[in-house]
Amino acid sequence: MSDGSPPAPARRGTPRTADRSAVVVGGGLAGVTAALALADAGVRVTLLEGRPRLGGLAFSFRRGSLTVDNGQHVYLRCCTAYRWFLDRIEATALAPLQDRLDVPVVDVAKPEGRRLGRLRRDPLPVPLHLGRSLAAYPHLSLAERAAVGRAALALKGLDPADPALDGQDFGSWLAAHGQSARAVEALWDLVGVATLNAVAGDASLGLAAMVFKTGLLSDPGAADIGWARVPLGELHDRLARRALDSAGVRTEVRTRVTSVSVNGNGAWSVQVPGGNLETDAVVLAVPHREAHDLLPPGALDAPERLLRIGTAPILNVHVVYDRPVLARPFLAALGTPVQWVFDRTHASGLRTGQYLALSQSAAQDEIDTPVAELRERYLPELERLIPGTRAAVVEDFFVTRERTATFAPAPGVGRLRPGARTKAPGLYLAGAWTATGWPATMESAVRSGVSAADAALSALGRPRPRHLFEFEEAA
Ligand SMILES: Cc1cc2nc3c(=O)[nH]c(=O)nc-3n(C[C@H](O)[C@H](O)[C@H](O)COP(=O)(O)OP(=O)(O)OC[C@H]3O[C@@H](n4cnc5c(N)ncnc54)[C@H](O)[C@@H]3O)c2cc1C
Repeated sequence: MSDGSPPAPARRGTPRTADRSAVVVGGGLAGVTAALALADAGVRVTLLEGRPRLGGLAFSFRRGSLTVDNGQHVYLRCCTAYRWFLDRIEATALAPLQDRLDVPVVDVAKPEGRRLGRLRRDPLPVPLHLGRSLAAYPHLSLAERAAVGRAALALKGLDPADPALDGQDFGSWLAAHGQSARAVEALWDLVGVATLNAVAGDASLGLAAMVFKTGLLSDPGAADIGWARVPLGELHDRLARRALDSAGVRTEVRTRVTSVSVNGNGAWSVQVPGGNLETDAVVLAVPHREAHDLLPPGALDAPERLLRIGTAPILNVHVVYDRPVLARPFLAALGTPVQWVFDRTHASGLRTGQYLALSQSAAQDEIDTPVAELRERYLPELERLIPGTRAAVVEDFFVTRERTATFAPAPGVGRLRPGARTKAPGLYLAGAWTATGWPATMESAVRSGVSAADAALSALGRPRPRHLFEFEEAA
């Protein structure tokens, strides 16, 4: 932790051959990744984070005896960069993957009662791995299931990197490929809203194709789900901090950078309250609006484009019951405003009863709704969805609101996302919002951090660390 005094400036007049330095601004997953990668290559790194902790948008806080995540986070087996990151911070065992994709989907729309379906895979090659599950999926008619199969095959033929796809919306593509409103609700949006943070009609076809192709059609195990069995802060703050310390990174929290400028001699100056740091390279790993405000003139051709990247909210509704109410680790819901429900009991440290978190993505309509109103809306919905809650006593009810949880994956967003390199030598960009090809996820953040470090290392003349995450060759 910072003692409140400004970080000591990096040594001036450093010989520019050997002892290279970099400052990484922002201690989210992108910044932590960039800092680790640079330090592993022998660069002297200072990481500056404005808040009192690392982890950015994926963090935990205390509420009485509970440790609460600001929002449920999951990843998929195909998130190879985030899995590399977990390995690098020695956290893999704390955020394991399912052996095999298995998502219970409960529909409560019909008056005659709840209906359980499952999205799961068989140990078969793509696309047969999902064939049996789709064929038996009770939330769609036979004709709808057949149409889903045809649309999935059509998706397989799309190139997510094709700029023409970026400008189209996924909803129109689904309609043009014979998908009923019900198929969109019960399958495409069930997965897409949680991964893209937008309904199909509001999502770029390029990003949606990327998610569905990679997750469902690249490898049989690609969509197996992983999540932290401990608070997110344990991974993204404590263990990340330990890895940074042992890599020799100097980490300063509560240190907000106010400006970044280049000196006449090509060195960079990073301004923090009460001091400044001189360095060879700067990685700006802050959200896109903050990056816009920190970019020096001329660093991007059209910096105002960053301000045209929208944001999208995620709401989490947290309910603590006095007794166990749900036997599964999570479920997805249909026919109710509830989207996904996760059991947080163990991870939060709750000793008796059960703690459920409802993860509500694309929550534009509810992000400012008062807690009392959300309570009135969601407790009865949980009673419809999870019968065990009907006799249980609610011991605590609260919400966490992330108004700018992700960038909005709207059609056209792809051409607004810059890459890691700027026009200013020595200045690099990282963040889930940069041009990684992925939606705003932990995977995108880690990939962006690796790309920024790669770009900086090649300019600094440092070899890439051997164990750094390797990008796959494009097919
Ligand atoms: C509720 C919620 C649920 C989510 N669910 C999932 C999920 O299930 N799966 C998934 O993969 N992703 C999920 N995400 C998205 C994921 O958390 C983000 O994409 C990822 O964490 C972004 O990391 P980042 O490093 O790019 O940015 P950030 O996490 O935003 O980090 C940027 C950091 O920069 C710091 N900063 C800003 N300005 C300055 C400054 N001037 N000086 C110093 N520091 C500064 C900020 O304090 C912050 O720590 C979710 C996000 C939320 C909010």
